[in-house]
Amino acid sequence: MTFTVGYAVHGSIAVLTLDHPPVNGLGHSLRVGIAAALDRALANPAIRALVLTGGERIFSAGADVREFGTANSSRDPILPSVIRAIEMSSKPVVAAIAGTCLGGGLELALGCHFRVAGSEATLGLPEVKLGLLPGAGGTQRLPRLVGLERALDMILSGAPQAARSFEGTPLIDALIDGELMPGALAFAEKVIAQAMPISRVRDRVVDAPAAEPFLQFARNTVRAASKNMPAPQKCVEALAASVGKPFDEALKLEREFFFQLMNTPESRGLRHAFAAERASTKVAGVPDGTAARPIRQVAVIGAGTMGTGIAITLANAGIAVSLLETGQEALQRGIDSIRRTYESALKKGRLTPDALEQRMNLIAPTLSYDALVDADLAIEAVSESLEVKRVVFEQLDRVLRPGAILASNTSALNLDTIASFTSRPQDVVGLHFFSPAHVMRLLEVVRGAATSAEVLATVMQLARRIGKVAVVAGVCDGFIGNRILARYVSAANDLLLQGASPQQVDRALEEFGLAMGPFRVGDLAGLDISWAVRKRRAAENPGVDFSIAADRLCEAGRFGQKNGAGWYRYEPGRRDPIADPAVDALLAEYRRDKGVTPRAVGKAEIVERCLFAMANEGARILDEGIAQRASDIDVVYLNGYGFPRHRGGPMHYAEEVGLSEVVRALRRIAAEPGADARAWTPAPLLDRLAAEGRGLKDHLEGARK
Ligand code: NAD
Repeated sequence: MTFTVGYAVHGSIAVLTLDHPPVNGLGHSLRVGIAAALDRALANPAIRALVLTGGERIFSAGADVREFGTANSSRDPILPSVIRAIEMSSKPVVAAIAGTCLGGGLELALGCHFRVAGSEATLGLPEVKLGLLPGAGGTQRLPRLVGLERALDMILSGAPQAARSFEGTPLIDALIDGELMPGALAFAEKVIAQAMPISRVRDRVVDAPAAEPFLQFARNTVRAASKNMPAPQKCVEALAASVGKPFDEALKLEREFFFQLMNTPESRGLRHAFAAERASTKVAGVPDGTAARPIRQVAVIGAGTMGTGIAITLANAGIAVSLLETGQEALQRGIDSIRRTYESALKKGRLTPDALEQRMNLIAPTLSYDALVDADLAIEAVSESLEVKRVVFEQLDRVLRPGAILASNTSALNLDTIASFTSRPQDVVGLHFFSPAHVMRLLEVVRGAATSAEVLATVMQLARRIGKVAVVAGVCDGFIGNRILARYVSAANDLLLQGASPQQVDRALEEFGLAMGPFRVGDLAGLDISWAVRKRRAAENPGVDFSIAADRLCEAGRFGQKNGAGWYRYEPGRRDPIADPAVDALLAEYRRDKGVTPRAVGKAEIVERCLFAMANEGARILDEGIAQRASDIDVVYLNGYGFPRHRGGPMHYAEEVGLSEVVRALRRIAAEPGADARAWTPAPLLDRLAAEGRGLKDHLEGARK
């Protein structure tokens, strides 16, 4: 498909309009289009000035992400060439900026000789969030317009800033209230009438008094804050070049840095995470344009930990909620807890008193199912018991009108069984929120055997509206996240049997980048909860051994932070973990009972075993069709389990290591004496892909064809 750049003439002004929906991504066809339109305007003697715009809605959100990794991304003309052509134009070029102007979009505007912006426009260089730096002159031109310090702040934070905040700087020549184009044309006419000289940003000098000490301070701060992330440090060095080197030389250096960063695993991980989150919104069997049902009223059943968090999430998005409980006392407890959460936000200045009352008013407590008749969706968050859920779903089926959606927040129960409690399994879906539900971004959408495409389209749209990252999962014990978690925790427990201490394992994984090691997480979540899950699984799978070292702690009454003793011990009222010799003694006894002589376990081995266990289970999940694509598994881990974004997720990490190496390591571990061969044997999918030299992404593409 060819995307065009609109060309229109208004008197002696040519208007070039970027037209590459949805965000004017600067893909190859658009770059060709800009260059061609520029040449056309330059060749016409009647044209005396140009306006470059994206129209009234958006200027450009930067590079075309759909082009990433394809030959087109580096096909001539590349963005720096297009910008140079504009900058060197003999006729003045005015950028007319509405809405979003980010990354390459802003760099393009910086190549123009004048910039006018709508009063609502926002400008930013977010490349650092993808482990990159602006590679089309942004690090050189921006400081020439806003000064070294502000440019550094914008480039390091990646955060967009309001066009209005640049008033008085040469970044914005005029702010335009109301419709953009008439104002932009009037500005261009003024440029012609007053014969305003062409002002090329490259010819300016960076305003940077005391640049050297400032840069030194920036280097030190960034090194400390960004740890092993290379991009922020390169950003500082590129900005240093804007004061220390001639423009063209510095531009060359910026480009070199850009390519160096492109090839870092950190940037690959961040770019993967970005693309993965976009891909996860597409659901197989739910074509674009599938009609979503309107959601105005939601019923939440159960006002415990999850129900209250879900109610807060919905009210925050302006959605009316009926919150149902079995008794007045539990209902009041839930409402009090919601108010406390809002009051704490108020104290932190994140909420105004008015907004607090508005949100509380959106949540209507009730004890009667009859109050739910107007609900478009009900989300059940009652105790994790099929019998309790049966009662709730039968009631919901009775009172909700046809077409209303019935959702369960179950962590592990079979959604198809739950759907069978109703007369409308096609309208039943899992909405697995994570705790605390109003904070965690992840939402696992569980698709039952009968869940309709329309219901899926509706809940995916709702997820976006309430600020969640949704991933679709099929029905299995633990869905995507908790099923992989069980393998990961079991691999971490194995390491204790081998001779590692909980502290060693936690430290190694935290150094890898996880927000918290598995044993600290276990203490936080409560060891008794996963103990109960293992007991249930053992009962459901006779002959399979689910026991792990953690059982010994639970048998000794150590449940984690909640009772001051788990893998660590805790002082009353404190949450910092303290190593506990009693745990060492329990582990020593456990090893003796298992006949294992402890050995030294290194950091690399800890990371390898825990991460490969995750990837192996992930591959099984993928092969079974529980996850639609490998990158969905990554999205789950990045948004629900504190996986470091720059590592891209467990499946991406396995690909970075190399699938054949992962398979070899899994085989080696599976063959060790005493190893759980069932768990460690490479998933057939991994084996296949590694043998064929293909990647996890190929599997998806193969499956789609
Ligand atoms: P909870 O014990 O904190 O809350 C459950 C609430 O449901 C209680 O207030 C109880 O009074 C109420 N309830 C029980 N029977 C009811 C009925 N028939 N009608 C209306 N209300 C009823 O439990 P929770 O942690 O909020 O978990 C709720 C569900 O969410 C469970 O299915 C759980 O597996 C799932 N879940 C929990 C977490 C978590 O981290 N806590 C995370 C994801 C999913």
